Amino acid sequence: MALSRNELVRYSRQLVIPELGPAGQEKLKAAKVAVIGAGGLGALVLEYLAGAGVGELGVFDFGPVELSNLHRQFLYGTGDIGGVKTELAKRRLLEINPEVTVNAHEGMLTAENTRGAIERYDYIADCTDNFMTRSAINKACLALGKTYVHGAVYQFEGQLAVFDPCVGPCLGCLCPDAESMENQACAEAGVMGPAAGAVASMQALEVLKLILGFETLKGKFAMLDFRSSDFNVIELKKREDCPVCGARMRLDKKFINSLAVELITPEELKARLDCAGLPRVLDLRYAWEHDLCHIKGDTWVDFDELVKNGAGFQPDDDLVFYCKGQSKSAKAFRVLREKGFKNICVLKGGVDAWAEKIEKGMTRY
Ligand SMILES: [Zn+2]
Repeated sequence: MALSRNELVRYSRQLVIPELGPAGQEKLKAAKVAVIGAGGLGALVLEYLAGAGVGELGVFDFGPVELSNLHRQFLYGTGDIGGVKTELAKRRLLEINPEVTVNAHEGMLTAENTRGAIERYDYIADCTDNFMTRSAINKACLALGKTYVHGAVYQFEGQLAVFDPCVGPCLGCLCPDAESMENQACAEAGVMGPAAGAVASMQALEVLKLILGFETLKGKFAMLDFRSSDFNVIELKKREDCPVCGARMRLDKKFINSLAVELITPEELKARLDCAGLPRVLDLRYAWEHDLCHIKGDTWVDFDELVKNGAGFQPDDDLVFYCKGQSKSAKAFRVLREKGFKNICVLKGGVDAWAEKIEKGMTRY
């Protein structure tokens, strides 16, 4: 794939690196990369890949730009709030580099559609924030024989790995319960913008090195603690008993069932409250979140106290837990179920779902 004069100038700063040169730049131009998630990680990965001249980029995301994401997602501006991320990302990337092709794929990736969606791409960057999609990417890459770069960020911490599930370890080898784990999205766990930026930059570099045929983190796992500046890289082993790629592919159904959380939808909860004034609705978020918005008639409870000693509630009490999404509530559910609480459940989708389905005027954050 020959380079135009314009491209030679545009990429000259990286072209002069001896290992790269015009031959390397042509490899980048011929490459197709899917970036799953155009948020804190994906937005920056996309910018770097577009800037570096990766020929074709797939932007996978769903939903709008939100005010609470702008502290780390600089691909979007304040004026973009409410706009569709994938389309806005495409427009901005083409401004950064009109020489590349950008495909906007709007919609959630699931276990059913991931394989078809990523098939046309050579490499995948997993920049999602939920285990369901991560797991779907892992399985699809195993089925298609593709290598992918996994990145994740949590508060001040980051992690990075390059998985080639067909030959080496996969996400399931590292984290066998990935599929059944609760989603600890940024909205609930919190994230420092520059921590996401650091992981995203490293992720983009790994993708570029894969295309160029350089040595990568393949088969390794990097753990980055930006608070203590403690950075570790460990070797990963392919596990015989991996539920995804292992020789003995099996799922421990009993274990998964023991993790199952009973959910109540916002509509069901509304109906129960209207009819019987029950159950007791417990807000497990931080007090400041409760002050920002909450479900009318609920009770704020200190999460730590609840999981430690039940916070004064009895095993027979009829309780519904809610948080922003549902991971914190699910944690409380499991601990209290162990303690013998029988009539408990979790509000599906948390206060976000409540605001979307029931109380539309509620403050969102
Ligand atoms: Zn595996």
